Amino acid sequence: MDHVKGNMGWIEVICGSMFSGKSEELIRRIRRAQIARQRVQVFKPRVDQRFSDDHIVSHSELRIPSQVVSNARDILESVDTRTEVVGIDEAQFFDQELVQVCDRLAHLGKRVIVAGLDQDYLGRPFEPLPHLLAIAEYITKTLAICVRCGNPANHTQRLIQSDERIVVGASDMYEARCRRCFEPRPAAVAAGAKTPGDSPS
Ligand code: ADP
Ligand code: ZN
Repeated sequence: MDHVKGNMGWIEVICGSMFSGKSEELIRRIRRAQIARQRVQVFKPRVDQRFSDDHIVSHSELRIPSQVVSNARDILESVDTRTEVVGIDEAQFFDQELVQVCDRLAHLGKRVIVAGLDQDYLGRPFEPLPHLLAIAEYITKTLAICVRCGNPANHTQRLIQSDERIVVGASDMYEARCRRCFEPRPAAVAAGAKTPGDSPS
């Protein structure tokens, strides 16, 4: 019985904190598609040069080749018409246009798998993930293990002091924390400094 009629695509989102296994899960799904001889293309944003320039690499050293793009529109322009599965990692580093790009690819009949952080270092929703969650057909929330207490970790604790939203780093700069152990402190507060005009948080 064939439930999917015609050239139907869809969007799958994998979201969660750092170290929760988003890249591992993306790599797992892409590898299965490749085993089934589906045509696959994988993308990541230029900003993330954490481990490797042309591979997606998980914290557990799984890796898969990927194309580096500068912005969301580049994905649309780089996808071959014959491609059946499109993987996108580190979605939080893309511009908001990623939402339209994923939508367009799904309408073109592609299976789109997007992985990314759903919250920033202060626990705020991290665009474009919230929008992607709204339009996705399938959503997977991954959790890490809190390094303080062992509970499910939904948060990314920044260990260095910076108020920049994007600071690229791994376990040298971040760790997984549960909601009780997470301390969402802006750098100025963390440093004990008082900045005039700062609102309490
Ligand atoms: P993400 O893409 O969500 O940052 P990865 O898929 O790159 O996650 O890495 C997941 C791997 O990170 C785990 O399989 C494990 O080897 C490692 N890891 C490091 N710290 C933790 C933690 N606190 N909880 C769970 N896994 C962790
Ligand atoms: Zn904890």
